[in-house]
Amino acid sequence: MRKIGEASRSGLSDADLDIQDTLNREPALFRIELCHSRFFGCPNDLIDVKELGTHGVARPVVTGQEGSECGQCLAACLDRIISLRNGRPVINSDYCRLCGACARACPTGVIETAERGVRILAGGTIGRFARYGREIFRMTEPETIFGVPEAISFLLKSEWSDDHEDHFSLLLSRTGIAPLYEHLGVPGSKGQPK
Ligand code: SF4
Ligand code: SF4
Repeated sequence: MRKIGEASRSGLSDADLDIQDTLNREPALFRIELCHSRFFGCPNDLIDVKELGTHGVARPVVTGQEGSECGQCLAACLDRIISLRNGRPVINSDYCRLCGACARACPTGVIETAERGVRILAGGTIGRFARYGREIFRMTEPETIFGVPEAISFLLKSEWSDDHEDHFSLLLSRTGIAPLYEHLGVPGSKGQPK
């Protein structure tokens, strides 16, 4: 917050300080909230949240570079899904969170980031029956973000039933994710949950 004060005193406008103001300037059905890390920077940033405001993901790849067997990738992976076999890292990609930590930690380039994208979840809820949002895309193109609120509005309008639901998360449990993909025009995606 000290940085915001300094920037404000240097004459920057509200929109310069917080891009979220610009994103939500017009009246709209939904509002875009950006991660607070935009104010102070994030040591684990994978994407520019000032532009995208969502969860960045990075897919690691094992390259043909010569390694040092230092083990820093093993220490960096909080999910403990990397092992060294014959001195080479092996990643159990079924359980990879795409956090990018291993590639960041590797000093030799044996593990690098193959691609970056965004992760999109929907249908999370708080309160008595709190539940985590359902993964709509594990990794997808940033542009997809802008279609998802519209696809959710479409699903609410076309599928809402007073008999069944009192929250979007319940509706999504009933319909599944397929109608969202259909509305987005992405029947299959590299980011589609398994
Ligand atoms: S990207 Fe993250 S979860 Fe996946 S292997 Fe690397 S450190 Fe582990
Ligand atoms: S892959 Fe990189 S971080 Fe992991 S042991 Fe080899 S050199 Fe070290």
